[in-house]
Amino acid sequence: MDGTRKDTKYSTMKSYRKELWFNVPSRRAFINITPDVEECLAESGIQEGLVLVNAMHITASVFINDDESGLHRDYETWLEKLAPHEPVSGYHHNVGEDNADAHMKRQIMGRESVIAVTRGKLDFGTWEQIFYGEFDGQRKKKVLVKIIGE
Ligand code: ZN
Repeated sequence: MDGTRKDTKYSTMKSYRKELWFNVPSRRAFINITPDVEECLAESGIQEGLVLVNAMHITASVFINDDESGLHRDYETWLEKLAPHEPVSGYHHNVGEDNADAHMKRQIMGRESVIAVTRGKLDFGTWEQIFYGEFDGQRKKKVLVKIIGE
């Protein structure tokens, strides 16, 4: 053999794609989307592989951390210190818009998370949960869930 894999090797790989939609009533929020991603995984039928979850907007994040309300309030305080929403006029970006802070908050909190899939389950560390971070809400936005594996 020349070391290349046979096509039949690839034929067992499955691919799954779904969009999760949000319309957050507030400007900013953290939403635990772990149950939604688990539902996607069950629907995909994939047992071994990888899940990619990414925000499809440049003013929203997907990240993994603890589902603890004190921590989420601390994130809010910390992010407001780093990139305060007001004064809106303090940002070059805010010409005809007011969301420069949301772009920066998204940059810090990240675009996506990747989670291993083992025996049909999300292979998390202790306390790990997946969150959608909204930094410029009050409109429809989406998250992509892509799962590959077998
Ligand atoms: Zn903008």
